[in-house]
Amino acid sequence: MNNTINDNCNNAQQIENNVSLSINGQCIHAPDSLSVIQALWYAGYPRVKGVGCLDGVCGSCRIMVRYADSTKIEMRLACQLLIEEGMDIFFTIFDTPSQHRYDLSKINTSWDVQTDFHKIFSEAENCRHCGGCNQACPKGIDVEQGINLAIKGRFRESGELFVDCVMCNLCMTSCPEFIEPNHVGLFARRVTGYFHTRPSNLINRLVKINTGELDVNIEDQYEGESS
Ligand code: SF4
Ligand code: SF4
Repeated sequence: MNNTINDNCNNAQQIENNVSLSINGQCIHAPDSLSVIQALWYAGYPRVKGVGCLDGVCGSCRIMVRYADSTKIEMRLACQLLIEEGMDIFFTIFDTPSQHRYDLSKINTSWDVQTDFHKIFSEAENCRHCGGCNQACPKGIDVEQGINLAIKGRFRESGELFVDCVMCNLCMTSCPEFIEPNHVGLFARRVTGYFHTRPSNLINRLVKINTGELDVNIEDQYEGESS
């Protein structure tokens, strides 16, 4: 670890555009153009584990942030957030597996989806509309509305709200009713895809390929694309 980490955050190095902040209780001094993850690397923390997407997609780098002169806590992704003077940051580790199990092939028809949803996610009806899930979501998703839509059987609309979900589990851990909102969103997206009627021209094309009526040489196609 190099000398950019000090025990005392007030003892900031006077370098232009450098800021001082606390990450997991360690004082870091780094340029304000860096994200939280980059600031850690700049300060000498080794990349001892696998590096995620660094693009706000994998949802692995969940952090709690308190800004200088504020008592408000926000949940963010460390690869997406630029550092600021006086930030106080803690990484959170939530690896709670979902308690909900289901098999889409066991849902007979789309007429049964709503009934089966309420059996699988029976606690969803207990939503208190507390907004805790919305507060927790680093992607700004209206999670509570997604739950409300799913409860009403409006799975397509519910699933669309969760398109940007990175399965960081922050809404799951913040829900006092153990609803697992992100898994409700995943269910909504899955059933929408599973029971959606595919385009007829695609079905006809696949039938022709399967019966040999249409001969498709995939390798030729790839060669054509690379030339
Ligand atoms: S909906 Fe939940 S799991 Fe998805 S990004 Fe938001 S907080 Fe994370
Ligand atoms: S945190 Fe849970 S109870 Fe509160 S609004 Fe979200 S889903 Fe409903």
